[in-house]
Amino acid sequence: MKKTVIQSYMRTIICLFSFILCNQLAASQNPEIISTKNGEIKVYPILHATMAIQYQEFTIYVDPYGGKEAFEGVPNPNLILITDIHGDHMNLETLNELGAQSTQIIAPQAVVDKLTSTFTNLSVLTNGETTSIQGIDIEAIPMYNLPEDSSSRHPRGRGNGYVLTIGAKRIYISGDTEDIAEMRSLEDIDIAFVCMNLPYTMTVEAAADAVMEFKPKVAYPFHYRGKNGFSDIETFKRLINVSSDQIEVRLVNWYPERE
Ligand code: ZN
Repeated sequence: MKKTVIQSYMRTIICLFSFILCNQLAASQNPEIISTKNGEIKVYPILHATMAIQYQEFTIYVDPYGGKEAFEGVPNPNLILITDIHGDHMNLETLNELGAQSTQIIAPQAVVDKLTSTFTNLSVLTNGETTSIQGIDIEAIPMYNLPEDSSSRHPRGRGNGYVLTIGAKRIYISGDTEDIAEMRSLEDIDIAFVCMNLPYTMTVEAAADAVMEFKPKVAYPFHYRGKNGFSDIETFKRLINVSSDQIEVRLVNWYPERE
């Protein structure tokens, strides 16, 4: 009799854990929703700096990484944007698994040079240039480390951040950068995805300071796993919240392994 009661308790506990686990996994798959006059933009945070953006029937993958399985439940890409040559941004394994050989890929020259033997639909976009696809404007924004010396992991001009204008909403994706003047002078940004990890990009304090200068309506920290673990994105949020009630900081989990 006693044994049955213990078994029943055990079952309840196991069920509870499974419920919590399943809910968390499901939550990590839920896209962030941005409303426009012509429907919703769905942004799926996938992993680290990797996201999928879906608008109407068009889906963009940004820096696909994490393997094909990381994109389960997300429509196939019509367009892929790549920011830089490092493996957490230009990931050949993931591009191959996705079967992206003839998918349109927009990237800086340094990335195109590395993909050109395998991928057939490549377009170069250089810092400062804009292109338009399916009514979506894509502008390449500089991304680089400071100071600009030989120690820089990201020299100016090699990689692209991007500003996408989708349904009149302007979405900034920082790429790997410090809080450079070109970021600080961005205008009319609705949604900003801002990197913050050490020693590759910048501190949460520098990221918060820059965000408070260009004032997006919503800011998401992303790309926040560094050499010594995760950056303190709660501090990023707090720094902004104490100084501004105009900028909403949204924390979502970019690292499924943390759940
Ligand atoms: Zn990176």
